[in-house]
Amino acid sequence: MPARVPITVAYGDGIGPEIMTATFRVLEAAGARIEPEVIEIGEKVYLKGVSAGIEDSSWDSLRRTKVFLKAPITTPQGGGFKSLNVTVRKTLGLFANVRPCASYSPFIATRHPGMDVVIVRENEEDLYAGIEHQQTDDVVQCIKIITRPGSEKIVRYAFEYARQNGRKKVSCMTKDNIMKLTDGLFHRVFDEIGVEYPEIEKEHWIIDIGAARLADTPNIFDVIVTPNLYGDIISDIAAQITGSVGLGGSANIGTSCSMFEAIHGSAPPIAGKNVANPSGLLLAAVMMLIHIGQPEEAEAIHNAWLKTLEDGVHTQDIYNQAVSKEVVGTQEFAEAVVARLGKRPTTLKPVDYDKTSKAALTIPDPVLQPAKKKEIVGIDVFLHRRQCSADSIAEVMVPVGGDAFELKMITNRGVKVWPDGMPETYCTDHWRCRYMARAGSVTHAQILELMGRVLDTGLDFIKTEHLCSFDGTPGFSLGQGQ
Ligand code: NAD
Repeated sequence: MPARVPITVAYGDGIGPEIMTATFRVLEAAGARIEPEVIEIGEKVYLKGVSAGIEDSSWDSLRRTKVFLKAPITTPQGGGFKSLNVTVRKTLGLFANVRPCASYSPFIATRHPGMDVVIVRENEEDLYAGIEHQQTDDVVQCIKIITRPGSEKIVRYAFEYARQNGRKKVSCMTKDNIMKLTDGLFHRVFDEIGVEYPEIEKEHWIIDIGAARLADTPNIFDVIVTPNLYGDIISDIAAQITGSVGLGGSANIGTSCSMFEAIHGSAPPIAGKNVANPSGLLLAAVMMLIHIGQPEEAEAIHNAWLKTLEDGVHTQDIYNQAVSKEVVGTQEFAEAVVARLGKRPTTLKPVDYDKTSKAALTIPDPVLQPAKKKEIVGIDVFLHRRQCSADSIAEVMVPVGGDAFELKMITNRGVKVWPDGMPETYCTDHWRCRYMARAGSVTHAQILELMGRVLDTGLDFIKTEHLCSFDGTPGFSLGQGQ
């Protein structure tokens, strides 16, 4: 008998304890070989004064087991509490959020019968890096970080997931027609890595039309890989249009640890009433079993669960007069699944997991690329100045360029307002002065000399950005209208 796999379990808040109990009933009956270590997270921990909602001792368990089955938690109202999900994701380096979204027509009403899409969302970077600043009275910014290693990890994970799960196509969604450098890098990495998976169809969608098609015609998609913010939005769209957000499970995968949970919250109004649907957490547990190399048990549970839906044994939230035969409570639903272990659905498509994959899907660390030849070819100097014109700023800032730099343009909110600005352009108190090196490149010392001259003007400079080229290719965007 193979050894039991230690996993860390949190029963959470609200409906968490009941749906976790129901999930464990099914896991045990299916013969899942797991050894749970229970930790406390969420409301009680927050209210003890631990602002992260998780105590230090719990991290020890997570580091030891590397597998976390988590019920939803309640985030207390009011300030000062950090999102536990974001903390766990970032601390454990859970770079991939995987959310299968399938419809179960005719047993769950949906406009999209046959939908079966998996969203693979990048989980650590993008605007979620959380780097925000207020720069002037009127202007705040949030820095969007996309990295090559981060993009490589998530894109490779999506292709490996597709390969392991017999999926035929991976669609990448970005907005690289606008964000040519950040989203452009993600798209380029997708094209580069895609070559290594010749058997899988590949395509790229601009996120706006891609999201619209996902909401309208989801059947054209199979696996979708996308940066963090777009993934956050489209994974909720995809779950919603299957007919019930209450049925979704998700996996947060890292290179060493992984977390599995339902996509819904702790639903306080129905807590303790034995009416919550345990399906989201149960399907997350199915993903966990595949991850820890127990695909037979995962398949048995998933097919028994499909058969339960098909037999019309439903919890209150998915009750539908036309197809439901019996409304059951949380624990009775679990018993109905247990009673069907070993059976397969006949109307819904049964699942067939790859029984040869006995280990978690792993991807190699990204290969360190050779360093490129980097040159500083200019600098953007940002100023805070209220109620003034671009011409008045140019008057002061042109001479500042000196022998080494030439002031090429001034932009406001990214739009060129000098030279030859348009009178219609609305200007805030946030100005960017773009200097280019007269001789093609400059040194750090020349930049400090330039900034010394900016200081002498008495203007309020708020930040600078070096303009660099890498192997001769400019690593910065042009101003709109430049
Ligand atoms: P929610 O998902 O808890 O509830 C939304 C609606 O869906 C409610 O009407 C609820 O009754 C219903 N619902 C949710 N899960 C259900 C289930 N399994 N069976 C039957 N009905 C179900 O979202 P919310 O009300 O916005 O949030 C409640 C709490 O959950 C908040 O404190 C929030 O911060 C937290 N939350 C936690 C997580 C997490 O831990 N991953 C995720 C989302 C929200």
